[in-house]
Parts: sequence; structure tokens; C-alpha cells
Amino acid sequence: MGLLIELTYLAASILFILGLKGLSHPETARRGMIYAEVGMFLAIVGTLVHKEIVSYEWIVAGLIIGSIIGGAISIWVPMTAMPQRTALSHAFGALAASLVGVSEYYLHGADVGTFKMTALSLEVLLGGITVTGSLMAFIKLQDWIRGTPITYRGQNIFNMALLAATVVMFGYLIYDPSAHSLFYAMAGLAFVFGVLLVLPIGAADMPVVMSLMNSYAGLAAAATGFAISNNVLIIAGTLDGFSGFILSILMCRAMNRSITNVLFGAFGAEVEASTAGALGSMREVKAEDVAVQLAYASQVIFVPGYGMATAQAQHAVRELANILEARGVTVKYAIHPVAGRMPGHMNVLLAEANVPYSSLYDLEQINAEFPATDVAVVIGANDVVNPDARDNPKSPIAGMPILEVDKARWVVVLKRGKGKGFAGIENPLFFKPNCGMLYGDAKASLIKLADAVQHA
Ligand code: NAP
Repeated sequence: MGLLIELTYLAASILFILGLKGLSHPETARRGMIYAEVGMFLAIVGTLVHKEIVSYEWIVAGLIIGSIIGGAISIWVPMTAMPQRTALSHAFGALAASLVGVSEYYLHGADVGTFKMTALSLEVLLGGITVTGSLMAFIKLQDWIRGTPITYRGQNIFNMALLAATVVMFGYLIYDPSAHSLFYAMAGLAFVFGVLLVLPIGAADMPVVMSLMNSYAGLAAAATGFAISNNVLIIAGTLDGFSGFILSILMCRAMNRSITNVLFGAFGAEVEASTAGALGSMREVKAEDVAVQLAYASQVIFVPGYGMATAQAQHAVRELANILEARGVTVKYAIHPVAGRMPGHMNVLLAEANVPYSSLYDLEQINAEFPATDVAVVIGANDVVNPDARDNPKSPIAGMPILEVDKARWVVVLKRGKGKGFAGIENPLFFKPNCGMLYGDAKASLIKLADAVQHA
């Protein structure tokens, strides 16, 4: 039986690796997801035939409740709420790891030995930070509290002191595993630290926090694997932990920020005084006028953002692109790495509307093309096209690479009104002389444009 379990775990681990590989490209992502799902199924089956399982009642009850919750989430949570959903998943995963750690320590106490004590403490430490950190991220993303950084004087010093105290406890427990109260105090502090860690982080830095939490949850799971000698948990947790960490680095690069700056910089705290007055006024345009420009353009670049997701306008974008392409217009899509609310958000939506991957261009590829573009159509994007990131060193998003739509001959922005983006700051693009605002829900505007182009 032991050999069978290990073989099942091996197959599951290979499928996890193939799954991750598949997820690295939109064309193979669906297949990758299926590999990962089958891998997880095998891992669960392998674990269920384990000889140490004494009773199945609780497991079956958990399986049923978990499946119902998981099914309901997959059916009812909208795509736009995916970041919050992911934050909750991280919190649940890390809670499971923390509880396993606490119960193992409760059962075996000082007898666990140095190696196991190290794994248990890591598990509880990383797990605790991830549970409350992810819940804080959920609360911020859900707008239950303000998403901007919450700061106070001496915050970094206080947080660092708390972290240092936790690390000292961690070290002492490895030296003396019998210090029971210290173990529970460390677990408690880890939960508190999770809240304090995420409080000062906000605005455009949330994607990095999410991927960091992903990483911590994975590492906590790997530590659990060491603590309960479960190989598949070690492999899956390590894959999760390091892929999350690599994603955090990539997200930081996409925003031109360092991890320490994200964690301790309270980015976006001082929202600059609005310069809207000094910027002049926005120019409203009509769909019919924009349609003429589009119809007679030689190249048009669509720039989707969060508003395209909320309006569910991806099919309408594709329809308009089809009509333009039929008229001989070259249509491209510019994808910013942090557009929307989760990594790959725009890619997923456009793939759903069957936009060919070859038409999607990332930031580095497309920016050089804007000066030779007749019309850049910004569809519910704001922060990712904000020229202040490039031009104003005092801007809270200074240094974040942007899609330089302002360099196109003509820019039209589809949004409902004067709403700000995720970072909560003014966007000078909307006041530029080559920019027109087409107000309304993105989907309705795109349908209107498609109709008007056909009559142009
Ligand atoms: P954004 O800056 O959040 O701006 C979205 C704009 O869409 C808003 O200004 C809003 O203006 C408009 N909008 C909303 N609903 C709309 C609708 N139904 N129809 C038309 N327009 C609509 O979006 P972004 O440019 O995509 O930038 C993403 C931001 O989110 C960045 O700051 C990024 O750092 C952050 N973020 C990204 C991730 C990630 O992983 N991608 C995760 C978390 C946070 P109106 O209200 O006037 O319509």
C-alpha cells in the first residue's frame, strides 16, 4: 500500500509540474489546469488510502462541505471578484496548514525533535501571517475598508520589532521545543503580524501582496509536508511557494518597484493634491465622430483595463475589431501586466472572446508602435495609461511602466464618468489635446461604435 501511495504522489507531482508549465502560456493554460486538477485528485485519493487514517466520517463531512463551497464559488463569484476569491483561498489553505501545525504540536509537544519543530514552527509562522494577511487583502479588495494604505507613526519600526520578536521565539523553540506557551504566543503573534503587514499596503501594490501571500501559503504547506512526512505536500507546497515568489518579483518589475518598497513603503499613502483644475478640461466626444476616425484609420490599438472586465465588454471589443479588420484596419491589443485586478485578467477575458493570441502585445512590444497608431482606444483602463507615472516623479505611481497611449495620434477613452482608477489618482491623459472621452458603460459604447463604423 505504501508503494502505491508514493507512486500516486509521484504521478500527482509530475502532473503539478506539467500543470504549472501549461499555465505559463494562454494557449496551453486550460490543459495545464486540467493536469493540475487530475494531480490534485490523485493526491487526495493517495492520502485517503493512508493506513494512519483512523476514521473517515470527518473526512467525508469535510469533503462534502468543501466541495459545496468550492462549487458555489466557481459558479457564482464573478470574474471581477477573482482577486478577493483568491485571497480567501490563500487564507483557507494557510489556516489548514496552521491548524495541522498546532494539532501536531499539541499531540507530540516537546517530543517532536529539532527538525520537526523547525518545520512546525515555520508552518505556523507562515500560515498565521498568510491567514490574516490574506483576509486583510480580501477586506481591502472587497472595499469593506479603504484600499489605500493605513499608516501611523513608527509603523515600520513597530512591525519590524514584532517580526524580530517572532523570529527570536522561533529560534528559541528550535533550541527548546518544550516551551509550550512560547509556541502558542508565536502563533498568536504571526496572526497579528499578518494584519499589520497588509494594513500599510494598498493601491496599486495589491497584486504583489496577493502573489506574496500565495507564496507564503505554499511554503507553509511545504513545511506541513515536512512536519507530517508527506512528500506530495512538500513538492506541491514548494512549487506553489516558489511560483508565487517568482510571480511577486515579476509583478514588482511590471510596476518598477522593489519588494521591500512594496512591503515597507506605504505606496500610494499620500495621494497628491488633485491637479485637475490646472490640467484644463476633458473633451467629450460622440460615438459617430470616433467611428469615422476608426473606420478610416490604418492602425488601431485597443487598450483594455478593469472597466472592460466590469462591463464584460470583451465580446463587444472583438465584434468591433472584426468590423474594423474587414475594412482593412490593422487591430492590435495592448496588454499591461497589471491591467484589471489579477495577473492575466485581460488575457483570460480576451481569450474567452476568441481574440487570437497573436494580436495581443505586451508593454515592451507595443509602446514603440503608439506614435505610428491612428487611434488608441482605451477601454475602461486608467492607471495603466496614466502618463504621470512617467512624467511626474511626485506621483504615487511614479516609475510604474505604462502603455504610452498619449503618443498615439488620437486617443479615445471609454469610461462611465470621471471615476478614478485603482490607485485613486487623477489621470492627465484625459486632459490632453489628442484625447477624447466617450462616456458610458464600455460594452454599450463599443456596441454603439461598431454600429456607427458600419455606417461610416
Ligand atoms: P483602473 O485604474 O482600476 O481603472 C478602471 C477604470 O475603468 C476606472 O477609472 C473606471 O472609471 C472605469 N470603469 C469601471 N467600470 C466601467 C464600465 N462598466 N465601463 C467603462 N468604464 C468603466 O484599471 P486599470 O487601468 O486596468 O489598472 C489596474 C489597476 O488595478 C492598477 O492600479 C493595478 O496596480 C491594480 N491592481 C491590479 C491587479 C492585477 O493583478 N492586475 C490586482 C489588484 C490591483 P469610471 O468609474 O469613470 O467608469
